[in-house]
Parts: sequence; C-alpha cells; structure tokens
Amino acid sequence: MKSDLFKKLQQITEQNLIDIETHKQEGNHAIGFYCLYAPTELAVAANAIPLPLCGTRQDPIEAAEEVLPRNLCPLIKSSYGFAASDTCPFFRFSDLIVADTTCDGKKKMFELMNEIKPVHVLQLPQQQNMDLFLAPWETEVAQLKQKVEELTGKSITTQDIRDAIRLLNRERTAQKRLMDVCKAKPSPLTGMELLEILFKTGFFADKEKGIAIMNEIADTCEALSKNNESPFKKETPRILLTGVPVGLGSDKVVKIIEESGACVVAYENCSGYKKAFQVDEEKDPIAALSAQYLSIPCSVMSPNQGRLDLLGEMIPEFSVDGVVDLTWQACHTYNVEAHQIQQFVTEKLSIPYLHIETDYSLSDTEQLRVRIEAFLEMV
Ligand code: SF4
Ligand code: SF4
Repeated sequence: MKSDLFKKLQQITEQNLIDIETHKQEGNHAIGFYCLYAPTELAVAANAIPLPLCGTRQDPIEAAEEVLPRNLCPLIKSSYGFAASDTCPFFRFSDLIVADTTCDGKKKMFELMNEIKPVHVLQLPQQQNMDLFLAPWETEVAQLKQKVEELTGKSITTQDIRDAIRLLNRERTAQKRLMDVCKAKPSPLTGMELLEILFKTGFFADKEKGIAIMNEIADTCEALSKNNESPFKKETPRILLTGVPVGLGSDKVVKIIEESGACVVAYENCSGYKKAFQVDEEKDPIAALSAQYLSIPCSVMSPNQGRLDLLGEMIPEFSVDGVVDLTWQACHTYNVEAHQIQQFVTEKLSIPYLHIETDYSLSDTEQLRVRIEAFLEMV
C-alpha cells in the first residue's frame, strides 16, 4: 500500500536525525552542500554524510534580513537565515560547508556564512566549454578532495571514489525510476508526493535506506498503474515544473497547481530530473565527476542550451500539457532565461507556458491561484 510506504518514509526520516548523530559520535563527519555542482561523492568516499542544505522555508528569512538585503532570492535568505539563527539541525551537524560560485547573491552570501562556519567555495566556471573550463574545474574538484581529507583525516583512494560513484549512481537511478513512474497516464503519484520523497530521502545518512524506499514506492506505483489506479483521471492536465529548485516549505506553486485540478508530473529543476544523471564508472574518477557535474544545465551557465535539450526530451516523454516556469524573486538568471524558455516551449513545442515569479511567503497565494486556474483553462 502506498500509504504504508509513506509512513515508513516518515519513520526513517525521524530516525535519520539519530542516525546522523550516532555516525558523528562514532568519530565520523557530516558535510553540508549547497547547490548541485559540488560532487557529494567526495564526502561519501571519506565516510562523511553529505547533507543538502539549500533553504526551502520562510521562517528563517526574517533573521537573514537583519544582515542581507531584502530584495534577494528567498533561497539565499532562507539558507543564510537557517545558519544565522541556528535552527537547522543539518547545518548544525555539518562539520564543513561546501558551496559554489553560482549566482552573485549566493557567492556573496557564502562570504558572510563563512563567519558562522567554515565554507569551502568551489570556483564554478560559468560556461560549459569543456576545452576551456574542464581543467580548472577539475583542479577545484581535486582541491575539494584534499579539503575533505584534511577534515576527516582519511586518505581518499581512487577505489573509495569509484565505490562512492557506484553508490550515488544507484541512488540517482532510483530517483529517476521514481520520477519516471509519473510518465504513466494518469500518474500514480501526485507532484507533492514525489516532492516529499525526493526531499526527505536527500537527507538520509544511509543511502541504501533511501534507495530501498524509492524502489519500493516505484514498485508499488508501477503495480497501481497496471491496475489503472491513480489519484487523477486520464484527462487531468499534466504539468511540468521548470526553473528554480523547490522543496518542502517552498512548494506553494506545486500545491496550488494540484489544488486547481492539475497534476505536476515532472520536475525539470535541480530538485528533480536535473540531478538524475549518471557519472562514468570507468574513467578516472576525478575526471568523470568533474565532467558530469560541470554539465548540469542550470541558468547560472551562459549559454545554457542543456536546459532546452532536457525540456525537449522531457515534455514528450511525460506527455506534458503545460509548462510552469518558476522563478524566485530577485533571481536574475532564471528570470532572464524565462524568455528563451517561453519561446522554446510555445513556438518550438506548441505547449502552453506560464512564468511565475514569487517568493516563499504565502501573501500572494490567492493571486497565484487565479493565474494558475486561468492558465489551466488554456491547457
Ligand atoms: S538552481 Fe542552479 S544555482 Fe540554484 S541550487 Fe540549483 S543548480 Fe545550484
Ligand atoms: S534561485 Fe537563482 S538567485 Fe536563488 S540561489 Fe538559485 S540561482 Fe541564485
């Protein structure tokens, strides 16, 4: 039963804080990561737990605004606010913070965060021309390996990294399999359910537990689809969400879409399909990690053709009826890129498109509902 598996997911989530604490008491480490570009394999290779730290809640933003400008992306304010107010257990558990120079607001925020806890910043190239930028990025990745070795006192071998790549490839395969069950028409999972599973398993100290529960849920969903069981009807509009990352707490747009009678069947963002890649297991591991992570198609890259390519694959594969492009307020890269996404989706693919710019507060919920309902009438 799907509901039993969600109860199990919740139990593992609650047990997880104890698991992380036990791991640390045994002399091991936890490393907090912001953003998708830093290879978490290097933490796993040193037996450290990688924790995804991007803030997804409104609560700590007030504390952040004492230091940061108000007209900054809520993800940056939420991330900093959690650190400044010491209200995130995962930030507290982290012995080191790993960050990247992605957008301007984030990289400048990390300078301030460094006063709270050591932040190791990777200098991320802003272009994916591998001839020019792969070598310097590989140096950054190699330096991160050294930093993790210094922190943990463990010398990371090539085999350790290969093992970590294999483990995280299995995790990404499970994530992709889970996301792919939503290709069924109608989808056996709601967009909110999918978001909850991907979000919660991201923090699991034991990757095997996350892989197992995602595969169990995927098995159940595939069986449901065979019996045509779904919370939706065949004609329910199917929405792909692209743009900025979302998580529990920054999910209002997903909730409104589904409350308005549609289903979010696919997430193209970095909390969804963008992270479901595979790292080459045969190549030199540092070279393989560097090449794969640098290829992530986020709007901080210029140009960012990879996002259009990914959308071009996902929209037909998930039988998408409409695309919602979400931008957090003051996020220039996604906001500007929205124009190209709109042109691509509406002109090349002839799919209805809606761009939404909002923050984490609930103050515009009813306004958004009116816009989304009007959009769904066109779909
Ligand atoms: S949207 Fe881009 S910069 Fe922001 S967390 Fe995701 S990959 Fe990193
Ligand atoms: S959503 Fe945009 S502004 Fe916010 S952290 Fe990501 S790239 Fe930067």
